[in-house]
Amino acid sequence: MLNLVLFGPPGAGKGTQSEKLIAKFQLVHLSTGDLLRSQIAAGTELGMRAKTLMDEGVLVPDEVVIGMIDSKLNENQSAPGFIFDGFPRTVPQAEALDALLATYNEQITTMIALIVEEEELTHRLLNRGKSSGRPDDQNEDLIRRRVNEYNQKTTPVAGYYSGQGKYAAIDGVGEIDEIFETICQKIADAQSS
Ligand code: AMP
Repeated sequence: MLNLVLFGPPGAGKGTQSEKLIAKFQLVHLSTGDLLRSQIAAGTELGMRAKTLMDEGVLVPDEVVIGMIDSKLNENQSAPGFIFDGFPRTVPQAEALDALLATYNEQITTMIALIVEEEELTHRLLNRGKSSGRPDDQNEDLIRRRVNEYNQKTTPVAGYYSGQGKYAAIDGVGEIDEIFETICQKIADAQSS
């Protein structure tokens, strides 16, 4: 199986690159942000609780997102692999993911980190907010809070994977297709190591 963690702050291009990776490798896309937004749209209790936190730009509790990933892995046991997008966002989530994959005798192949500096992120997210209608993309203070949350709680996840020799950083600014080619090269390197 090819199991990728696509890593980077909000607005780094994870969603865009995920689409291209899915088309090439037929991976199942597991975006915890998308899963949470569908819970909100369906009006579930979990969705309502998550919405309050998402509207504040802070992370939802680890056990909520781990539970969602657990059931999606279970539902897709014959998949050729997974792309984890926006997950894991904390070290306990990364540890839980390793433990879940181990129950299927699987593991993460590599983490691909898209590096983009904060001013560019804010600019991209405000633009995305105009067309996506996502409430958390339409307010500069909220965007900064999400990037802050990322810097404090999520950046240590890169160290977790680099400690396992599974970390590849890529410049996330440039042509979408060129970034994609670099990602594919890093995947090939990880598969041959
Ligand atoms: P995203 O679509 O990945 O930018 O996520 C939108 C929001 O959903 C985040 O600001 C968090 O509030 C929440 N969220 C998404 N994924 C996670 C996660 N893995 N852990 C905690 N909160 C998450």
